[in-house]
Amino acid sequence: MIEPTGARSDAATIIFNLPDYRVIGVDVLAFGQRRIRVESVLEAGCRGCGTISHRRHSRRFQRVRDVLVAGPVEVLWRKRRFFCDESECPRKTFAEATPQVPAFSRSTARLRTALVDAVIRSGRSATEAATAFGVSWWLVQRALNTAVLELSERGHAVPGDAGFGSSKDTDAADVLWETCIYEMSSSGMKI
Ligand SMILES: [Zn+2]
Repeated sequence: MIEPTGARSDAATIIFNLPDYRVIGVDVLAFGQRRIRVESVLEAGCRGCGTISHRRHSRRFQRVRDVLVAGPVEVLWRKRRFFCDESECPRKTFAEATPQVPAFSRSTARLRTALVDAVIRSGRSATEAATAFGVSWWLVQRALNTAVLELSERGHAVPGDAGFGSSKDTDAADVLWETCIYEMSSSGMKI
């Protein structure tokens, strides 16, 4: 069955397939490297008060690390900053954020998920995963650490909890934790 893709979708956006973004341009750089320019299609809510704003203050391109798309790509997000018109709100302006690229993040959620999967499900070391995805070891380690925190927030037992080791849910947390400890100790970090 063919799903309708909506009037705003275009071939590049469909192929790139980053949720809540559309492709606004593609450049081919030296050595065949591709640069993909995207913008968010979500409405922007103020991080201070949640008010939706359409009054744009400025915009600039931000580099975002992403998964390989038929090879490495450089992704530039044309990120907008908006005025907050809520008089009680202490923020006068705010930059947009999305589920894929939350505030202060410089990588996509789908990349962080892929990195965790590479280490946890495919059994690669963080260094191997970093090399395969063309990112730093630190980014892989941060993704692993975040995954442990998210498991904890969703109610999974993690090391330090009384119930750790007593539930089948701990399998994933156990592997994540051991991987984090191993990677941090083998890199010489103090734990
Ligand atoms: Zn506000």
